[in-house]
Amino acid sequence: MVRPMTGEFQSADFIVVGAGIAGASAAYELARAGAYVIIAEMEEQPGYHTTGRSAATFVNSYGNDVIRGLNALSLPFFEAPPDGFGEHPLLSERGTMYIAGTDELEALDQFLAEPPNAGLLTRLTPDQALAMSPALNPEIVAGAAFEEAARDIDVNALLMGYLRGFQAAGGKLVVGAEIKSLLRRAGKWEAETPVGILSAPIIINAAGAWGDDLAYLAGARPVGLVPKRRTALTIDPGEPIADWPLTISLDETWYFRPEAGDLLISPADETPSPPCDSQPDELDIARCIDRIQSVTRLRINRLVSKRAGLRTFVHDKTPVVGFADDVDGFFWLAGQGGYGIQTSPALARMTVALAGGGEMPDELIERGITTAAVGPMRLLTA
Ligand SMILES: Cc1cc2nc3c(=O)[nH]c(=O)nc-3n(C[C@H](O)[C@H](O)[C@H](O)COP(=O)(O)OP(=O)(O)OC[C@H]3O[C@@H](n4cnc5c(N)ncnc54)[C@H](O)[C@@H]3O)c2cc1C
Repeated sequence: MVRPMTGEFQSADFIVVGAGIAGASAAYELARAGAYVIIAEMEEQPGYHTTGRSAATFVNSYGNDVIRGLNALSLPFFEAPPDGFGEHPLLSERGTMYIAGTDELEALDQFLAEPPNAGLLTRLTPDQALAMSPALNPEIVAGAAFEEAARDIDVNALLMGYLRGFQAAGGKLVVGAEIKSLLRRAGKWEAETPVGILSAPIIINAAGAWGDDLAYLAGARPVGLVPKRRTALTIDPGEPIADWPLTISLDETWYFRPEAGDLLISPADETPSPPCDSQPDELDIARCIDRIQSVTRLRINRLVSKRAGLRTFVHDKTPVVGFADDVDGFFWLAGQGGYGIQTSPALARMTVALAGGGEMPDELIERGITTAAVGPMRLLTA
């Protein structure tokens, strides 16, 4: 049942739902390609949900083959964004070190031997690993792999650069604009929000953890998005840490990295959650402290800050990008999981091509990234 629509009526070529990194980057590229785009964001602040809660790293060797292709195609944007994008560099030096225990040495060998990791990862001895990340408990380090090219991302500069560029290209960001209902009429969507009605032939679903909820509103089949809560705490390490790399267990059960003078620590949890304003759970906080104390010599008496965010995946951990086949004009840009910041430039370019009615760009095809690999149809069984 669609409620009567009230308020101001605004028309565009595209409505992008969500002003996280996915929506902001796609809207930027669409506006620069000449489209009139409105971003509808339900919060007052862009980036309030997962985008504002990430670990802010660019790790080339992270993710499945599709993700690694997207990483490679996104890197040039981070290294040399378009003129006027922003005053600050988007990347700064960090490095990522994967730590393997005695029962993981075979897995470490396999990881180092993966073709995409050739020339990217260096094997380290336990002594070398401990020299780089001196808080580690020597007993848990049997081997390590180091990605020197991994970088910190200035996520705020990236998000603001996209939104500024979007507005400079004529786009309009509307906040406090939760899409409450969707009606398809005469080849256009009419989206009811508390601040008025937005209309466009195409909706881009960049609603993060709420992606399947938006599909329900449109009458489209959901794709099986599962938001998974991840906890990130910061502590005062009491010693200089600026040079420490992101240090992560090979099986991704804990990590730590410097963040603005403090040390970010995480149990790398992946607890399924409904879409919500995610908050850290007391048990996860206790687990995090316990785990980090067991893999380091750090003793944690006080937290500087705590946060949690939802990393939203479909079962194959590959993003969902493409038009729905069951309703017209409904475009998916969802399921970016734990890689949505670092892959945003390539996913945004893909969105412009496909949502504009074109083919998958050659740069993506050359990396084996096809419409079948990322499209929603692979997930629709019912
Ligand atoms: C602890 C943690 C560490 C991470 N570390 C990294 C990392 O190091 N590198 C990396 O690349 N990625 C990382 N990620 C993942 C990354 O943060 C996400 O992939 C990315 O932020 C997802 O962006 P998004 O725009 O899809 O979602 P969001 O940022 O959640 O944006 C979705 C937006 O849609 C809006 N919305 C939803 N429904 C509606 C509606 N009906 N109407 C209007 N607006 C709506 C929401 O308010 C929200 O602002 C991490 C995530 C977490 C939680």
